Amino acid sequence: MAQKLTDDCIFCKIIRGEIPSCKVAETELSYAFMDIQPLSEGHTLIIPKYHSKFVHEVPEEHLADILPLAKKIALAIGAENYNILQNNGSLAHQVVPHVHFHVIPKPNATEGLGVGWPAKTPSIDEVKKSADAITQKL
Ligand code: 5GP
Ligand code: ZN
Repeated sequence: MAQKLTDDCIFCKIIRGEIPSCKVAETELSYAFMDIQPLSEGHTLIIPKYHSKFVHEVPEEHLADILPLAKKIALAIGAENYNILQNNGSLAHQVVPHVHFHVIPKPNATEGLGVGWPAKTPSIDEVKKSADAITQKL
């Protein structure tokens, strides 16, 4: 199965062992390790062994490997409440340009992920128009 790593990416270097990391688990296609600046105890990152910035650039075989691994790690962490987060693009809070999935325990109101949720109130017609536009391009 295809791996694709680059020379100048910190997460590619972590996969290759050129930068140290606190490894949690590894498969042929994925690598999981502790976040160096955790939002809560247990905060883990899961990355594909395939360098790309955006999740839509990752081969499906890698994506298919990641979510079962995230499930296992979430169970191993044992948090009753947690978030799985994956940011795409700097406006969307992505800092490291190698796709990564966060598993972030939410032990209480102050630790873990804080989420702003600026909900809009469109009409049902506007919602349906959005659905149709997406469906047509699938
Ligand atoms: P993003 O905002 O891009 O979704 O999150 C990047 C995450 O990577 C942050 O939570 C940050 O703490 C973590 N991170 C950045 N550099 C390193 C590193 O060198 N080692 C580890 N273990 N985590 C890192
Ligand atoms: Zn990379």
